[in-house]
Amino acid sequence: MHVLCLDLEGVLVPEIWIGVAERTGLAELRITTRDEPDYDKLMRQRLAILDREGLGLPDLQQVIDALGPLPGAREFLDWARERVQVLILSDTFYEFAQPLMRQLGWPTLFCHRLLIGAGGRIENYRLRQPDQKREAVRALHGLRFRVIAAGDSYNDTAMLGEADAGILFSPPENVIREFPQFPVTRNYSELRDAIEAARGRLPA
Ligand SMILES: [Mg+2]
Repeated sequence: MHVLCLDLEGVLVPEIWIGVAERTGLAELRITTRDEPDYDKLMRQRLAILDREGLGLPDLQQVIDALGPLPGAREFLDWARERVQVLILSDTFYEFAQPLMRQLGWPTLFCHRLLIGAGGRIENYRLRQPDQKREAVRALHGLRFRVIAAGDSYNDTAMLGEADAGILFSPPENVIREFPQFPVTRNYSELRDAIEAARGRLPA
């Protein structure tokens, strides 16, 4: 039995914080883990900016809803779900992902949670588990599944390495250089081919 683990941002939907930065005009929200490697510090900065601007969860959900999935993502996901069990493993938050999950037909998503206060104020965040993408693949192996995984960035490489077949999707050049062991796909057609090749190679 095969399970396909997919990253969310950069694979099925745009980068959420960058989309929010563009649509709200708040350029400071473009900071990523590349600019601020301390994730907790980065999140506190983001939440402080939202607070200062008086933006709560309903405002953000409206912005994220308008971002929508990447073109062709829904069709790709429907194709995959007809063939294998699909799990989306993401470092985003359920509350942010919700409008996009609706547009993708409510696939299964494992990610993190926000703590929402009165009036939709985002008070804090809670990571369900550190290194959850890799841990999910380990747990699936414990359940005797073979795992195919696809993602676009650094935070996916532990998941890709733990999987029986790891595939890069539309990755930046530095990730391609640093992780030459993973095949590179640049569109959904190539990703479908790489998934089919992995399914053919792995024991059923
Ligand atoms: Mg990603």
